[in-house]
Amino acid sequence: MNVPLLDLKPQYNALKTEIDEALLRTAESQYFILGPEVKALEKEFNEFLGSKHAIGVSSGTDALLLALMGINLQPGDEVIMPTYSFFATAGVVSRLNAVPVFADSDPVTFNIDPNDIEKRITNKTKAIVPVHLYGQSADMVPIMEIAKKYNLKVIEDGAQAISTQYKDGRCVGVIGDIGCYSFFPSKNLGCFGDGGLVVTNDDNLETLMRIQRVHGGKPKYHHKIIGGNFRLDAIQAAVIRVKLPHLNTWSEQRRQNAELYTKLFIESDLATEEGLTEISAENKVLLPKAVYKNVELKNYHIYNQYVIRVEKRDELRDYLTKAGISSEIYYPIPFHMQECFGNLGYKFGEFPVAENAAKSSVALPIYPELSNEQISYVVEKIAEFVK
Ligand SMILES: *Cc1c(COP(=O)(O)O)cnc(C)c1O
Repeated sequence: MNVPLLDLKPQYNALKTEIDEALLRTAESQYFILGPEVKALEKEFNEFLGSKHAIGVSSGTDALLLALMGINLQPGDEVIMPTYSFFATAGVVSRLNAVPVFADSDPVTFNIDPNDIEKRITNKTKAIVPVHLYGQSADMVPIMEIAKKYNLKVIEDGAQAISTQYKDGRCVGVIGDIGCYSFFPSKNLGCFGDGGLVVTNDDNLETLMRIQRVHGGKPKYHHKIIGGNFRLDAIQAAVIRVKLPHLNTWSEQRRQNAELYTKLFIESDLATEEGLTEISAENKVLLPKAVYKNVELKNYHIYNQYVIRVEKRDELRDYLTKAGISSEIYYPIPFHMQECFGNLGYKFGEFPVAENAAKSSVALPIYPELSNEQISYVVEKIAEFVK
């Protein structure tokens, strides 16, 4: 049996008529960049997320970069973030000649550990960037309390978590000062290329970022400030507008897939419960846990990834590949061990939770259209290997 990590074709086939129509509509309009499609998308997102302002941008990375420019991040300023995330979270800070400062992760969710933030604050700290990893919210209440205490901005990296809710029901991205999302095709709401979105409830930040999206010119060709080309294509907005109304259904399917995985792992005697942090004879597979699970919330976790931990991770991946099953590691190297951040002076051993995650975690196929047979097959093959 073949089980790809992600197959986008069933989703396209299900919506083909509407998507093709949207593509054609954009072609016929010959309006390619920003314009009415992007405006409509921004409005629909505000309704969907409960945000005041949404700004369509060129990618999730550019969303983060624009957010940092929006808060006027200066060279030498420090930004605290988890050491365990996709590279863009840290890369954008360095690109502005500011300094990424790393914190360790929570052992259950792999999201930034709020207890590890405060001791990293200096008089140069300007912002905290929590990442809602794998589609689950970081613990925002303590993060917002620390930010308030030290007068720091909070920029949420919600690239893997569009529509995810925190335990109080708020969507991630609208809790801090600015929220950033990605429409990269493999994300849970993907377009047909690169795209992203920034949200904020702050009128001043919105005004500024809207101008910075188009090189900082307002009126056109008059520059009080410097921005960039962070514009979203009309075609990407048109595709996302077709998909957005289906997002909750897809997230529900992802949750059901996750529940089936968990049930089968427990039935196969590979695990006893979710969210454990030590591999043992009874728990050879460590299962992810939705820590804010609450059926009334619905989107307490949207499972952009379903990540387990095992001892011989790389050997397991080889075994699965031979059985036709794709998997991925998010992420094999934490930021503090990346060569490009060597000058920051971190050492191996400083972030034990993230280092352990990098060594033992593996993401299994979880996309909405996956069949129960495929999920059973994956668990069966993992059981074969582990036992
Ligand atoms: C994907 C991702 C990004 C970057 O988004 P792009 O649209 O690929 O630029 C940033 N942060 C995280 C956590 C991501 O997963």
